[in-house]
Amino acid sequence: MYDITIIGAGVVGCAIARELSKYDLKILLLEKTDDVSNGASKANSGIVHGGYAAKHGTLKSKLCFEGNKMYDQLNNELNFGFKRTGALVLGFDEEDEKNINKLYENGLKNGVDKKDIKIIYKDEILNLEPNVSKNVKIALLANDVGITSPYEMTIALAENAIKNGVELKLENEVINIEEFSDYFNIITTQNTYKSRYIINAAGVYSDKISNMLGINDFHIIPRKGQYIIFHKGYGKIINRVIFQTPTNKGKGILVTPTFHGNLMIGPNADEISNKEDVTTDIETLKYIIKTAKKSVPNIDLRKVLTSFSGIRPTPSTGDFIIKEAKERFINVAGIESPGLTSSPAIAKMVIGILKNSGLNLTKKNDFDPYRNPIIIPKKLSYKEVNKMLEINSDEQIICRCEMVSKKEIIDALNRGIPIKSIDSVKRRTRVTMGFCQGEFCIPRVKKVIAETLNIKEDDVPVREKKSGILPKKVNLNYFKSIFDNKLQ
Ligand SMILES: Cc1cc2nc3c(=O)[nH]c(=O)nc-3n(C[C@H](O)[C@H](O)[C@H](O)COP(=O)(O)OP(=O)(O)OC[C@H]3O[C@@H](n4cnc5c(N)ncnc54)[C@H](O)[C@@H]3O)c2cc1C
Repeated sequence: MYDITIIGAGVVGCAIARELSKYDLKILLLEKTDDVSNGASKANSGIVHGGYAAKHGTLKSKLCFEGNKMYDQLNNELNFGFKRTGALVLGFDEEDEKNINKLYENGLKNGVDKKDIKIIYKDEILNLEPNVSKNVKIALLANDVGITSPYEMTIALAENAIKNGVELKLENEVINIEEFSDYFNIITTQNTYKSRYIINAAGVYSDKISNMLGINDFHIIPRKGQYIIFHKGYGKIINRVIFQTPTNKGKGILVTPTFHGNLMIGPNADEISNKEDVTTDIETLKYIIKTAKKSVPNIDLRKVLTSFSGIRPTPSTGDFIIKEAKERFINVAGIESPGLTSSPAIAKMVIGILKNSGLNLTKKNDFDPYRNPIIIPKKLSYKEVNKMLEINSDEQIICRCEMVSKKEIIDALNRGIPIKSIDSVKRRTRVTMGFCQGEFCIPRVKKVIAETLNIKEDDVPVREKKSGILPKKVNLNYFKSIFDNKLQ
């Protein structure tokens, strides 16, 4: 009998698991895929939002503001990578100016400190960001905005939760729940688990889980967002996250450096019917390029690496749904943006709900908040990297573009989460994420995984079983063909 079972190992489920691991409880984390962070938490903008955007009075606005403040300490403990770059929300006309003033007022109401937000004008904007369009008139400067690597954060939370006693069971899709007087039977594709409490953090499927107990007061609308990602190092053309003035359709297309120094543009927002559709398409990417160039006109399309998409779990209610929906069953549903930012504060809120519902929460005295990073930053010349490609030691470089060593891959495989796919190792070490997109290193990574796990190379999957087929993506040659900026 578990005290608490969390369904879904995205950033929300993992943040809750880690927070609960501070207490003397028997905790189970169930995930249907072969790794943590395989849903929205692996494919988003990675922005730690500043708390000025979400409408004052909503749960989103409160938890985003609180979550943002928790990132420095969380990153100091878990080393997943976080930088407070700041952000600019650009305005190009009078309508934008009105909306930027409203954003500023909304930010102050949400609790953002006056030293963290400021309205600035053309000269100051171009001084801070010389590559921003000369057509800019006004901007909101938000200094508390940051960037993070969302999947590394989720992995770090999960690893630390496991270190502190949480049991993670992968490839366990919850297919039914039976309710008894003081516990639930949770039936998965592999087993049946008994648990006194359930926390539903199943992302786009949180409505389906809720329906299993007859709770139908919301549904999830999947909204896809596509992105284009550029070479590592190219993120330097801007210093901050560059937003456009939001509309009622959302935050619009942003241009941002990623935590590891790539440039990224996107996302659009399209309601879709298939919750698994993570394809990308030319028409949408064209729209993204055109719109991003309004902010940063000289984006060089020759530097495109790849495209990807993520699906927002948009709630039909318009706000995060975080409540005890029936005795001992807590919905943490509809966590769309700014859910990544809010996740540490959501975890604290769930603790409060559990306390109010009568669960006895006693703090452990041996909770260990720390987790070492996996990636070891290296400054190696091309010549040095080439020399290290064939050396016979754990310092051997396996992925040339991202300079990933054998040692880092072995470390990634030995952290308590039973992963074995190249995709899982990629999210932990950055193998295959460089210029060649895995052409050079996939066979080498496969070999290290097979040796470390003592399995056959043929048994090392490229990615998760169900999504074994690569999602249809736009061919990179398309970008090369338009690199002369015909779209401008
Ligand atoms: C395009 C896009 C851009 C975004 N940008 C930002 C941003 O910049 N900043 C920000 O703060 N937020 C952003 N977000 C929002 C953020 O990504 C989400 O709020 C967050 O990732 C939600 O986490 P989650 O754990 O609720 O969901 P998920 O990460 O989707 O996790 C849910 C998990 O539940 C599992 N699951 C589902 N059904 C079952 C089942 N039956 N049994 C077992 N497991 C199950 C899934 O496999 C999945 O792993 C963005 C989202 C998108 C899509």
